[in-house]
Amino acid sequence: MAHWRRNSHWGKIMKRIMPGCAALVLLCGAAAAQDDATRSITQVTDDVYRFDNNFHVSWFAITDEGVVVGDPINQAAAEWLKAQIAERTDQPVRYMILSHSHGDHASGGQVFEDTAEVVAHENATAHVEAGEVDTAMPDVTFADTHEFSLGGKTFELNYLGEGGHGDDLIATVIRPDDVAVVVDVVNPERLPYQTIPAASIDGYIGQIRAVEALDFETLLPGHSKTGTRADATATIEYLELLRQRVQERLDAGDDLEQIKAAVTMPEYADWGSYEQFIGLNVEGMVGHLSN
Ligand SMILES: [Zn+2]
Repeated sequence: MAHWRRNSHWGKIMKRIMPGCAALVLLCGAAAAQDDATRSITQVTDDVYRFDNNFHVSWFAITDEGVVVGDPINQAAAEWLKAQIAERTDQPVRYMILSHSHGDHASGGQVFEDTAEVVAHENATAHVEAGEVDTAMPDVTFADTHEFSLGGKTFELNYLGEGGHGDDLIATVIRPDDVAVVVDVVNPERLPYQTIPAASIDGYIGQIRAVEALDFETLLPGHSKTGTRADATATIEYLELLRQRVQERLDAGDDLEQIKAAVTMPEYADWGSYEQFIGLNVEGMVGHLSN
């Protein structure tokens, strides 16, 4: 979303400068967006840090035996992050954990490949091999769960299941910090993205239920603000209520435009992106329930 909006903005400027050069507009827009990125690092616990790159979030953890990083986001973001980590510790980045293989989170992993082992779900490998995402090839993969320790911390990786958002989405719980990294399926107090991209709504909710079943305190998302386990529960409640309201209109025989006009979620009007995404969320739910 962030890149699209920023690219669109730059696209308009470039179009004014160079009318009729659509390809160049896109290229210049993308380059400008990366150079222009708004980035910050925030401490979450003693050793775990949140990394914001425009509207995408990642993380890293510093230990006495090395650093563990999350999603690289893209090459420019990863290069900036690498330099920031080097300012905080002499330890090398030993592991990079990919939340899933979607390009807006997993791109640019080559930046950490010199010192880091790349850890991901086993389904991620095929997506990297197919060129769907430009990142480092996973070195360590797993099916259901995987755990490793470094410098007194344990990293518990949990596959969130298939049929939902992607087929390789995992949650990483960092101990003893009790921080869970949960990307895309839970965005604390923010509406689900656009048309709720997922293979099925049951699969999507199933992934959030898998998050809900984990033991942790702090939820570090891929978008939106830092939250807690309760944000997983709140997201399920939102989706179940939206499903119920859309299903009622479908049962009444309404078409898409009638349903979009009729269904709102006023209980969640204070959540982020409400005005922007409510119509798309309804549309996405109609699609999921009509399949
Ligand atoms: Zn995704």
